[in-house]
Amino acid sequence: MRRRLMVATLAAAAALAAGVQARAKAPPADRVFLNGRVYTGDPARPFAEALAVRGRDLLAVGSSAELKTLAGKGTDVVDLRGRLVVPGLVDAHLHLLGGGLSLDELRLDDAFAFAEVAKRVRSWAQANADRHWVTGEGWTYVAFPDGLPSKVQLDAIVADRPAWLVSYDGHTGWANSAALRIAGVTRASADPSGGTIVRDAKGEPTGALKESAMDLVGRLVPKLLPHEKERALKRAIAQAAAWGLTGVHQAGIDDEELELVARALEASPRLRVFAALPIEREPTAEALARQDALRRRFARGRLRVGAIKGHVDGVVEAETAAMFEPYPGGGTGLTKWTQAELDRAVAAYDAAGWQVMLHAIGDRGIDMALTAFEHAARANGTLGRRHRVEHLEVPRLADLPRFKAGGVVASTQATFPYPNQNHLGVYLSILGAERAHRALAFKSIDDAGAVQAFGSDWPVFPADPIRAIACVVTRTTIEGTPKGGWEPAQRLSVEAALRHYTRDAAFAEHAEQERGTLARGLAADFVVLSQDLFAVPPERIQDTKVLLTVLAGQDTYRAPGF
Ligand SMILES: [Zn+2]
Repeated sequence: MRRRLMVATLAAAAALAAGVQARAKAPPADRVFLNGRVYTGDPARPFAEALAVRGRDLLAVGSSAELKTLAGKGTDVVDLRGRLVVPGLVDAHLHLLGGGLSLDELRLDDAFAFAEVAKRVRSWAQANADRHWVTGEGWTYVAFPDGLPSKVQLDAIVADRPAWLVSYDGHTGWANSAALRIAGVTRASADPSGGTIVRDAKGEPTGALKESAMDLVGRLVPKLLPHEKERALKRAIAQAAAWGLTGVHQAGIDDEELELVARALEASPRLRVFAALPIEREPTAEALARQDALRRRFARGRLRVGAIKGHVDGVVEAETAAMFEPYPGGGTGLTKWTQAELDRAVAAYDAAGWQVMLHAIGDRGIDMALTAFEHAARANGTLGRRHRVEHLEVPRLADLPRFKAGGVVASTQATFPYPNQNHLGVYLSILGAERAHRALAFKSIDDAGAVQAFGSDWPVFPADPIRAIACVVTRTTIEGTPKGGWEPAQRLSVEAALRHYTRDAAFAEHAEQERGTLARGLAADFVVLSQDLFAVPPERIQDTKVLLTVLAGQDTYRAPGF
């Protein structure tokens, strides 16, 4: 008995010693961030002071005093000096290639004086000396004294290569002499049907081409080459990191872009991309097998394929979003499916284990998407697919509880309520007062208990989450208009806005067990900001700078001077 006790005591002592030894041997943290204000996103413990990182993961989240002890000889210790740390931001709906290309595009939209047009074209041409064509869009007729531009004006800016610039409304093109020469447009050319080659008094083409005559030059503009697209993707990835994004959801990706994104992320693994493949109208066994092979090939790593993306309807501005009540111009919009077709396709994907993302903007389109998701869950007996309605701009308020009930994610765009002239004038007047009141109603969506993931739809709006958070918290422009905000009852708290950009976005890609909040064992994805979003007045949120973006423990962006 006594002996046995001895043995037991010895074993316990040995185990204790081994435990202490194991602890002593545990390698110290690679990096420790102290003295910050850390928003964890974890409801049980929303704020902390410090983070410790080992490898790709968070070793600990807690007080500075506790975490200091995790630093060893080689540990990089960073004093945050009270700055705010938030989980890595995730944009739940964008288009990377389009976004990257938009960074380099020549835009003339708000150049209302000819001198400004000339300046922008000249500087773009200089910055893009390797491009065989100078191309751009967005010029307005008021910038030209005669109401139309001429080749003489453009030759004076770009003489070494063809130049082709399209008006903001897409109805007129502006060519220089080199472009007209390549297109073979001369005084002898006849006007194509439905178009006009604008000519001077002597019959000489002026360089302005209207409507179908635009094709004469437009069809010659070279398509982007794969290496140009890859360069644009790399730019997009770098810009995303600079905006504080550690992840993005690509809403629809074709085969070519999928390969290009994979290659760009191999070269520059600075972003997590969750991609959705385009929906097949008739998901045959063959089509499902092909898509499943891509899902298995991109199951882990920086690029993951995990969803299917489709469109139910169009957009408000073109009066093609599907509505229950008519638009001012008549009609109730368009749907790309009958309910039966949509139900069938969604159920087939749901049965194959896919999450389905459906673009639906009008109240009738949103009802169709929800109905298809409800049908699939019933037909297959599935739960937890986390299907998503994308955009969800003008729901019937009575339909909002269907999101929580069906486990459907509300994927909204935080910059869409930006109340500029276009929003207040065009968008709201097309909707009419009753619909405008329930459009982009983010607070109502939250109050209905839905998981709401925020995105930008970049390049529609820049994927800058700070700008987006400022927008949803104030519902004003950066100039502070309209006073008090558009539909101020729909303003969100900073906490809610951050949650939609972090935890909810992670949930929307089935990744909340790995990231989206800051806690021991989760991925070390986080962002250091220049000021405390929770403390500054709402109108100053827009001044916040991203100082550091960390993805899986590695810096993907560091502001100069930090
Ligand atoms: Zn989109």
